[in-house]
Amino acid sequence: MIYSVIVDLSASEVDRIFDYKGEGYSVGTRVLVSFGKRPTEGYIIEEKDKTDYDENKLKEIIRPLDDFPAISADLLELGRFMRREYHLRWADVLRLFIPAEMRGNRVKLLSKQQVSLATQDSLDVILASLKPNATMQRDLVTYLYLNGATLAETINAEFGNSALRALKQKGIVVSQDIVVRRTPYKDLRVGNFERHTLLPAQQAAVEAVLSDKTGKFLLHGVTGSGKTEVYLTVIEKIVAQGKTCIMLVPEISLTPNMLRQLRARFGDSVALLHSGLSSGERFDEWTRLKNGEAKIAVGARSAVFAPLTDIGAIIIDEEHDGSYISDFNPRYNTVDVAQFRAEQNGALLLLGSATPSIQSYYKAKTGKLKLIELPERINKHPLPKVEIVDMALETRRGNRGIFSSVLKQRLAETLANGNQAMLFLNRRGYSSFMMCTKCGYVAKCEDCDITLTVHREDNRLKCHYCGKQYYLLDKCPKCNSSAFRQGKIGTQQVVELLHTLFPQVNVLRMDADTTQTKESHGKILEAFRNGEAQILVGTQMIAKGHDFPKVTLVGILDGDQSLYHEDYLATERTFQLITQVAGRSGRDKDVGTVVLQTYTPTHDCLQMAARQDYKGFYATEINIRQPSHFPPFSEILRILYTGEKEKDCIDQLTEQYAALTDLKSLYPNAFYYLDKMRCPLKRAEKKYRFQILMKLSVDSLPQILPLIYGICDGKKRNGVQIFAERNPQNLS
Ligand code: ADP
Ligand code: ZN
Ligand code: ZN
Repeated sequence: MIYSVIVDLSASEVDRIFDYKGEGYSVGTRVLVSFGKRPTEGYIIEEKDKTDYDENKLKEIIRPLDDFPAISADLLELGRFMRREYHLRWADVLRLFIPAEMRGNRVKLLSKQQVSLATQDSLDVILASLKPNATMQRDLVTYLYLNGATLAETINAEFGNSALRALKQKGIVVSQDIVVRRTPYKDLRVGNFERHTLLPAQQAAVEAVLSDKTGKFLLHGVTGSGKTEVYLTVIEKIVAQGKTCIMLVPEISLTPNMLRQLRARFGDSVALLHSGLSSGERFDEWTRLKNGEAKIAVGARSAVFAPLTDIGAIIIDEEHDGSYISDFNPRYNTVDVAQFRAEQNGALLLLGSATPSIQSYYKAKTGKLKLIELPERINKHPLPKVEIVDMALETRRGNRGIFSSVLKQRLAETLANGNQAMLFLNRRGYSSFMMCTKCGYVAKCEDCDITLTVHREDNRLKCHYCGKQYYLLDKCPKCNSSAFRQGKIGTQQVVELLHTLFPQVNVLRMDADTTQTKESHGKILEAFRNGEAQILVGTQMIAKGHDFPKVTLVGILDGDQSLYHEDYLATERTFQLITQVAGRSGRDKDVGTVVLQTYTPTHDCLQMAARQDYKGFYATEINIRQPSHFPPFSEILRILYTGEKEKDCIDQLTEQYAALTDLKSLYPNAFYYLDKMRCPLKRAEKKYRFQILMKLSVDSLPQILPLIYGICDGKKRNGVQIFAERNPQNLS
C-alpha cells in the first residue's frame, strides 16, 4: 500500500506530501519515516494504490508512533478545509489536533503500581496467617482490607516497603500497574450548585435550540440573563442522546468557573483542554476525550479541535471575543472552524453573547443564524446604573488623580456596605514607558519595534511582545540626560493608590503579570469570590463572564482607551468591553453601579454602552460599515511577509503585489481595495514585517481566494515567511 505522509518539519517552509510504502496502517496515524538522512515524525493523511513517483524508489514507513490513529478522518477533513480557507501548511494544521508533547514522544500515559489483597478471605483468616509481632504487616493488611486497592506509593509512605515486600512474597498482597489520570484543577471546589428551574425565557431558548438538531443559533442575552444555564441544559439533553459536546469560553481565566459548573453536573465526563495545563494533564484529558471516557470538552479556542466523535453540539460563549481569532500561525477563525465541525457531525452550533459581534448579528439579521433573545436579567433584576464621569471636567476642577471624586465616593459606600468592587483598566504594569523629557527618546525593545514597559515589582523594562527584559535606565542613552518621565498608569499603581485611600481594605490584582503560573487565574478569582479581598483590580481579563454576586460597583478607569485606534473594530470593541465590564456589577440582589470615566462623555458609543443599548449600537455601526465596505460587507485579507532580511521581504512582497495587481484588473469587482505597506509594528522578534492589505467582495471570495493563495504559493525566497490572515483582529 502507498501512504501519503506529511513530514513534521518545524522550521521549514516546505509544505509537501511525500509517499511511502507500508502495510496495515490507518489514515491519521503518526509514523516514523526516514526523511533525508534522519528518521522524522510524520502523519499519514491518505492511503492509495498508486504513486506518481517511481514505486521502487519509495521508502518504507519505519514504524507507527502510537498504537491508534491520533487524528480522526473528520479532523483530517477539517484540516483540508482550514488549508483552503486560511492558507496554512499541513504540518501546522495537524499539530493543532494533538497535544503538543506527543511530538517527539515527550509525554506518555502515567502508570503507577497499585496493591491489593490477593485473597477473598476474611480479615481474621488473613491475620491468623501472620506472626502476632509483625505489626506493620498486620496493619497494612487491615488497611487494604478496609480501603481496597491502594497506590503502592501511599502504602510505602505509611507502612514502609519492607512490610509490603514481605506480604508480596507470601502471596497475600499482589500488585498491578494502572493508568493514573492527571486531572487539571483537581482541587477546584465544585460546591453544591443548585440546579435552577429554567425561567420561561430560558426554557423557550432551550426548546428553540433543541428543535433543530443541525441549527445554527445566536443567543443574544444581556449580561446576567442566565445564558450559562441554557448552555448546561442543552449539553445535558445532547449528552442524554449519547452524543458529545464542545463548550468554548474565550479565555483560560474563564475555564475554572465553567469547569466547576460542568463538573457539578457531569462529573468525570468533562475534560478540559487549554494551553495552560501541564503536558501530562493535557495529554490525559485529550486521551479521555479520544477514547470516549469523557464526552464534554471545555476550554479556550483550541478545544474546538477536541478529538471527539459524534458531536451533538458546539457552544461558543462570548462569541464576539477577539481571542477566537488566532493572530499567530496557524491563523484561523474559531467560529468558522466550529461551524464546519458542526456541519460535518450534523451537530447544532450555538453562539452566545451579550454583545454579539457585528458580523454574527448581521448573519442573524440575514437568516444565516437563528436569533434567540434573553432580553432581561434573571428575576427582572435591573441592569446596573451607569454614571459617566467627565474626566476633563475633573481635571479643570483640580483633580488630577486617576480616581474621580464620584468613583472615590462610590468606592467608600460600597466598602461601607460590605460589598465588593472591581476596577478595570486597559493597561498593565506600573507605568507604561520611559521617555527622556529632554530629547524625546523612548526605550524600545532591540528585537521588536515595541516600546518597553516599566515593571516596578522587579525593576525591569519588559517587552510585552517577545518577553525580553532590560535593566531600568538611569540616563538617556541618546543625550545622556537623567530626566526620564514615566508615562501613564498601570494596574499596580492603582493598587498602591487604593492602599493609601483605604488602608484597611484588601485588594487583589489580576493581569497578565499576576497570572503567569498555571492555576493563578483560578486562585485569584477564588480568593475574590471567597471575600478575601474587597476590591479586584484588573485588565480586560476581569471584564468577561465572571459572576460575583457581591460585586455592586464596577469602575472603568479609562473608558476611552480603545476608542481611538485607527482600526474599524475600535468602536465595536469599546462597546463590547464597557457592556461586559458593566455586566459584572449588581448580579445578585443589590442594584449595581458602574462609574465610567472618560474624556469624551458624549461619544455615541459610550452613551449606548452605558444604556446597554446593543440594538442602537448595531444600527449605528452597520450604517457606517455598509457604505465604506467594511466587514460584514467585505472580507479583509492581509498577507503578511516576515523575515530577518529586509530586502528579501520587500522583493518577495513586490513580486506578489504585482501579480495581485494583475489579478485585480482581471476581476475588478472582487477588489474594493488593494495596497502594500510596512506593518505598523515594523519589526518583531528580529524579523521585519510587511503586508499587503485587501478588501474583497464577499460574493467573489470562493472564486478569488484560491487565486490569491496561488500567488502566495509562487516562487519563494529563502527566509521569508508568508502568512494569510482573514478579517484580522489586529493589524499591527
Ligand atoms: P449570563 O451568562 O447570561 O451572564 P448567568 O448564566 O451567569 O448569566 O446567570 C446569572 C445568574 O443568574 C447566575 O448567578 C445564575 O446562577 C442565576 N440563574 C440562572 N438561571 C436561573 C434561574 N432559572 N433561576 C434563578 N437563578 C438563575
Ligand atoms: Zn535624551
Ligand atoms: Zn521584543
